Amino acid sequence: MKAISEKKICSMCRITKSVKDFYKSKKTIDGLISECKKCCRKRSDRAAKERPWRNFGYKAKGRCNNKNTKSFKYYGAVGIKYKLTTPEIKGMWFRDKAYLMKKPSIDRINPKGDYELSNCRFLELSENSRIGSLGNHRKLGKYKAVVTPSALAARRLTARKRLKEMMR
Ligand SMILES: [Zn+2]
Repeated sequence: MKAISEKKICSMCRITKSVKDFYKSKKTIDGLISECKKCCRKRSDRAAKERPWRNFGYKAKGRCNNKNTKSFKYYGAVGIKYKLTTPEIKGMWFRDKAYLMKKPSIDRINPKGDYELSNCRFLELSENSRIGSLGNHRKLGKYKAVVTPSALAARRLTARKRLKEMMR
């Protein structure tokens, strides 16, 4: 049995730390990752900054393939498939200028379609959820409520103005 007080040197920062400060791994002989938790976190933070599009792929893939994901029931369970590749997401990232967005998110243009290049784009998260709730309104027959009476009146007014101009 291994003692809890066992120590290990981190391959990155070279500090001797308790084995509790290392993540477990099935690939190594001692069952631990060679870098300490702190260094691992630093490395993944750096990777996320350098290649931010990768995390979006991991998350979307999880929603489609991993039954333990919270939102699996809205994705994988209803047959939505993940068909994107990392280079495709990278292409979308620059095409849609996702780096300029506050909170970019992957939007499926056809909400019933798969995660594939022809059906995906990066969208500001707030915009993405707005479209989502609009869809719900439509489904529930509440879509008409989105057009307010004043907006409707304004629309009628411009239509009347245009008509007048045409008659001149
Ligand atoms: Zn370290």
